[in-house]
Amino acid sequence: MKVKEIKAKTILRKHKKIDSWFLSRYGMNIYRGCIHNCAYCDGRSEKYNVSGDFGCEVQVKINAIEVLRRELDAEKKKMAAEKEFIMLGGGVGDSYQPIEEKYRFSRKALELLYEKDFPVSILTKSTLIERDLDVIKKINEKNKAIVSFSFSSACDKISSIFEPGVPSPSERLKTLKLFKKSGIPTGIFLMPVIPFITDKPEILNDTIDKAKKADVDFIIFSGMTLKKGRQKDYFFDVLKKNYPELIIDYSNIYKDNPWGNPAAEYHDYIQKIFSVISKRYKIPVRIPYYLFKDFLSENDLVVVILEQIDYMIKNLGGKSPYGFAAYSISKINKPLSSIKNDLRKIKGVGPATEKIILEILETKNSKYYEKLMAF
Ligand code: SF4
Repeated sequence: MKVKEIKAKTILRKHKKIDSWFLSRYGMNIYRGCIHNCAYCDGRSEKYNVSGDFGCEVQVKINAIEVLRRELDAEKKKMAAEKEFIMLGGGVGDSYQPIEEKYRFSRKALELLYEKDFPVSILTKSTLIERDLDVIKKINEKNKAIVSFSFSSACDKISSIFEPGVPSPSERLKTLKLFKKSGIPTGIFLMPVIPFITDKPEILNDTIDKAKKADVDFIIFSGMTLKKGRQKDYFFDVLKKNYPELIIDYSNIYKDNPWGNPAAEYHDYIQKIFSVISKRYKIPVRIPYYLFKDFLSENDLVVVILEQIDYMIKNLGGKSPYGFAAYSISKINKPLSSIKNDLRKIKGVGPATEKIILEILETKNSKYYEKLMAF
């Protein structure tokens, strides 16, 4: 492993709109590059400009905590009384990859977020997070902490091929159980599901069954993207070595989509299988409302609920205006409660959406939303 210490100008990444999958307004990466070396890792794509040999080299932002402290103070002033989740993890390097044992920057960042009074959402694939159970517990008691793990399946054998540098799914599930038993909300990001390998109904069923037994609060599913260039080439090399018979099938579903998405028919097909199984197990497929209702600004709460409604309707095969309305609302700088009489002037907001927004502003919930999310 090659380690390069660098000085960062910024640590926090403020999203243009709240990311309703992860609930975050802010993301952060302390490490660039990831020794976990997952074959499908999106961080390998040229789009993210991670220099060096991805999977073997890591850049460490050596001044991360000092910069983060400065940024949190500035953001806090702008946010007034609101609290928004800060996400640790995802992106171009796991926050709990082995180098964290030495630098302890993820731990120090969490201590700082505790001190500054922010809720936190963490995504990792590493059981090293158990080391920080004490500080995560404190954040959860003061605000809210959600710990999620990503999986491509719960199969240890398949994981050893595609995720060579991470603890096995069995170990990850044990860690999730530990956090849940300690009173911390947990979730699984079943992403990416690997086409023709971990998308088989029996494997999906096994993964969801194990997630249910680990008592996770939610499981969020996504297919695999393969962007042309470094990411796709690396994945195809691993595929050729281990599943050469699948090369043609992959070439058929991964054409030249600029975002690396597989063919829409394939995506719809696996989405349906996932929906049927998750329904059978009565497991939420989005972060449940009770975990975020008290930790978002009113506009963000409306955006997240509308986007979750949109997802559920489309999952049922319907058409939905709610995603577009959520997008328009995300661009509004004033609190929605201050423009209650003008909601219909917002692009995409018709009478039904207006009714839902008003209900959320008044009760922080929507009956229609609750009905859609129920099993
Ligand atoms: S753990 Fe995450 S960031 Fe690291 S290689 Fe795997 S997918 Fe990429």
